[in-house]
Amino acid sequence: MERLRLVLVGTEGAVNLGMIARLVENFDVEELYLVKPTASLQEAEQYAARSARKLREAKVKERLEEALEGTSLSLCTSSLASASDVLRSAISPEEAAIIARETPGTVALVMGRESVGLTRDELKLCTLLVTIGASPHYPVLNLTNATAILLYELFKTRGVPHHERVPPDPKLVGLIEKYARGIAELLIADQRRAEEVALSFRKLAAKNIMDRVEAENVLLLLSRAYRALERSRERI
Ligand code: SAH
Repeated sequence: MERLRLVLVGTEGAVNLGMIARLVENFDVEELYLVKPTASLQEAEQYAARSARKLREAKVKERLEEALEGTSLSLCTSSLASASDVLRSAISPEEAAIIARETPGTVALVMGRESVGLTRDELKLCTLLVTIGASPHYPVLNLTNATAILLYELFKTRGVPHHERVPPDPKLVGLIEKYARGIAELLIADQRRAEEVALSFRKLAAKNIMDRVEAENVLLLLSRAYRALERSRERI
């Protein structure tokens, strides 16, 4: 996907429209298209925080067909999914994100009206239907919340987040095991048990230490403890 186009069809609420304009910026959406919005764009600006500009720059169209022009993949969305109705057979947001990532060109995400969603005629215009799995008792999400979830899934496969963990060097994980083994051998007489403890530390570190600073700190403590134990043994 080179570009992501968010298409809002018939948005009725100014609060939703404003908050979604902000999401456009939060998740690096390149294009915002509005199909026949009934909400006041001016009122919506109040809820867009720093992203009011996105509303002013949005392309307003009369029909969904026009908003989908030039797209190579379109993802309609609905809480109503059904395995027995071809038009409503749906994929998950995660699946949609993978397909979108692999599709060249512009991908459209189409969100429906708060009251009645997208019509069957509109669903027919889309390549695929995406549904967010939710409680069978009440699977209908608020429009802004649904948009946030879908944009986040799409962002994760293409965007550069503002914060990323720095993973530890695998060598550090190896050293954590080495010092844990050293300590276990000094403190646990039963050799088999000591080896088990060392192996548990290997697995604990590999599964749970995902951050460089955390790895360095655990290693610091274990290496100091090992040396202190060795020194105290030498004195005996
Ligand atoms: N009965 C309507 C309700 C509209 S809710 C329907 O077709 O779902 C307003 C919009 O929010 C929907 O058109 C859709 O774009 C989105 N939405 C709400 N719940 C959703 C869900 N579980 N999965 C995907 N999109 C959802």
